This record gives sequence, structure tokens and C-alpha cells, in this order.
Amino acid sequence: MKKVVKFGGSSLASAEQFRKVGSIIRNDSARRYVIPSAPGKRNPDDTKVTDMLYQCYKQAILDDDMEQDFEEILMEIEQRYEEIIDGLNLELSLDNEFKVIRENFCKKVGRDYAASRGEYLNGIIMAAYLGYEFIDAAEVIRFHENGEFDSETTNDLMTERLADVKQAVIPGFYGAMENGRIKTFSRGGSDVTGSIVARAVQADTYENWTDVSGFLIADPRIIPNAKPIDVITYRELRELSYMGATVLHEDAIFPVKKAGIPINIRNTNRPEDKGTLIVEATCQKPRFVITGVTGKKDFASVTVEKAMMNAEVGFCKKVLEVFEQNGVSIEHMPSGIDTMTILIHQDEFQEKEQKVIAGIHRAVEPDFLELESDIALVAVVGRGMKATRGTSGRIFSALSHANVNVKMIDQGSSELNIIIGVRNHDFEEAIKAIYDIFVTTQL
Ligand code: ASP
Repeated sequence: MKKVVKFGGSSLASAEQFRKVGSIIRNDSARRYVIPSAPGKRNPDDTKVTDMLYQCYKQAILDDDMEQDFEEILMEIEQRYEEIIDGLNLELSLDNEFKVIRENFCKKVGRDYAASRGEYLNGIIMAAYLGYEFIDAAEVIRFHENGEFDSETTNDLMTERLADVKQAVIPGFYGAMENGRIKTFSRGGSDVTGSIVARAVQADTYENWTDVSGFLIADPRIIPNAKPIDVITYRELRELSYMGATVLHEDAIFPVKKAGIPINIRNTNRPEDKGTLIVEATCQKPRFVITGVTGKKDFASVTVEKAMMNAEVGFCKKVLEVFEQNGVSIEHMPSGIDTMTILIHQDEFQEKEQKVIAGIHRAVEPDFLELESDIALVAVVGRGMKATRGTSGRIFSALSHANVNVKMIDQGSSELNIIIGVRNHDFEEAIKAIYDIFVTTQL
């Protein structure tokens, strides 16, 4: 068995958290490749080391040669690492590392380099603590000169480098271009590194350890004690994440998906919880008809009406082109015989609305045009809905009992999701009603 284990910032924020991580790793000898994030927040008011590094580098850019104000923040960062080292009773000094970082900050070698040091230093500590080999991600994660991730070169480099390495720590979040310049993924990118390593070593599982026990069926701020999702498919996750559920970086899915490796989201503070397993496909029957219910607020809609519109070739295309020309991206597009409605993000749309309206008038000469705002979209997602009769009936009767008016319905033909448009102020009620009918009453 081979497992790749990634630990997020809150799992590595202090020596105490490092200890929990150490015992999780030692508990299972399959946990051979470890991907650490930088130290995160120790409490809600704390600052992540990555944010401190960005701030420190910003200061370094501003400093002239005489004054080195970035020193102050850098010393705070150094202190955070020293506390971890002391708390773990390690014989390890990062003096040399900080000397190099200082020099590079003075040379202003780049923002990505600065941010990457959070993971780099945590990786050195983790390797010393576990007695694993340390492998600098700059050696094995490659980016193209234009900044795009080079997945195939990376896979070759990583596979070769790890071929004879039994246990290693590879810091998350960054890699390098061929010329050695450090480049990071977007924020939260250590998840991506873990996935890349899992693919390269053909791991049996990619465990992603964080501070929640996986995904919940609904947002706990709306449904206190919402039940966890045991198993979810990549496609379901994509639908849920798009609509707002965030635990995992969205690019983390691609490398493991290519290799058919499941991701297991686990909680460092509750290692006894099984967490959520993310898989490509499963025969396992979901516990409930729905896998999750989520959504987003603040959409606007533009309804265009014209008699005989459905007989007019190219009508929709002309309307959509107006949005394209104004750089507004479209979320959904429910339509009737003589009407089509376009849903867009309100904040993106507001400043362009008059231009769009004028554009539509010019393009298709509609009989009627209506704008509405403050619409929320609720997404009900679940592989269990496929071929289950009555799902939508139950959703809508639950909404009607909760006095929620439905403004729009959109069911994907894959039967994996149903999207419902409601008023912003009905959003929470709608989620509660749907959760209750499918989960609380366990039907
Ligand atoms: N430390 C980086 C961040 O805060 C990357 C990560 O934690 O995955 O975004």
C-alpha cells in the first residue's frame, strides 16, 4: 500500500498540531509521501505564514537599499518556525535558510519565491521530525515559461526522482520553471501538489488532511449538524464546488482522476472520522437520494420576449453575442417558447447593464425585455437522483410548503443536478426545506 498524505496549514500551525500529524503518519506505514502546507492560523485572529510572506516581500520591494523594513516581518516569521522546532525538541537550525531568504528578498527575486518559502521551510522541519528524505519541489514540479503548469514533464521528473525513495517530504504549493525561477500554484495549491505526487507514485489513496471531516451535505451555517458525505464522485463534487462548497482546490482533481486514484478528505483533529471519499465512479448506493445541496446568491436575470422567437434562426446566438461582446459570462439560460432568460452574476453585470440592453434591442428587436436582481441559485446534486422517480416533485412540494416561490428550474440531462432559482431572501429557507425532505426525514 502506498498513500500520499497532504496536510493543510491549520494542521501544521504549531508544534502541537505537528505532533498530531506525526502520530497520524506513524500510525500507518503506507503513509510514505508527505506534502506539507505552510503554517496556517493558530486561532481565528492569527495570520497565515503565506500571508506574512506576501506582506514581507511587498515591504522588500518598497524598501530602498538603506532601510530594510521587511526585516521586522521576516523575524516574526522566523520566530514562528523556531517555536515549532523548539516545541518538537528538534536539533535543527534554519539560520542558513533564512540567510539565503534574506539575500534573495534584497535581490527581489520574486513574489512567488517569497510565498513558496512557507512550504519549503515547513517541509524541512517535517522531514527532520519524521526522519523522511526532503525533496525540494523546485526539483520535481515544472512550469512552462509562460507560467502554466507542465504536467507531463513534472510526472516524468517526479516518477523518476521518487522511484527508489521509500519515504519523502515534498513541500506543497510551488515548483520551478526550467531556468530555476520559482513559481507557485494559485492559493491553496498544496492540494494540487499532493495530487501530482499521488499520480506519479501511483498511490492507492491520496489523503488530504484538513480541519473538517470531509464534505457536508449542506453548509453548516445554514444547517447546524449537517450530515457528512461519505462518498462522492468527481462529477458531483465539481457541481457542488462550482456552486460554493469549498474544501479542496479545484485543480487537485485532475492528476488523480487521470490515474483513477481516490481522494480521502480527513480531519487532523478527529483522525477517527472516516471523512469523505472522492471517487471516479461507485456502485455504492448513496445514503440519501441527494448527495448535497448548496448554492449562491446575487444573480440577476435578463428576460427577452419576442413573438415567434423560436422560429427565428440564430435568435439565441444574437442575444448571447451581446453578452460576449460586453465580457459578461452567462450562468444559466432557461427558455420558453417565446422567451429566453439569461442568468448572470449581478456584480459583474451591473455596470454593463445599459450597454447590454441597448445591444439586445439592436440585435433582435424584442417585444419585451425585463431585468430582475437578487436571485439565488440552489443546486441539488446527487447521482442517486438518476432514474429516481419523484425527486423534482418532492423538491418543489417541499419548497411550496416552506412558502418559497420558485423563479426558475434547470435540470441537467445527466440527471445529476437540479438548479432552482429563488429570491435571495428565500435562499436559506430553500436549502433547509430540501435538506429536511431528503435527509432529516430520511426518505
Ligand atoms: N500556503 C498556501 C496558501 O495559503 C498554499 C496552501 O496552503 O495550499 O494558499
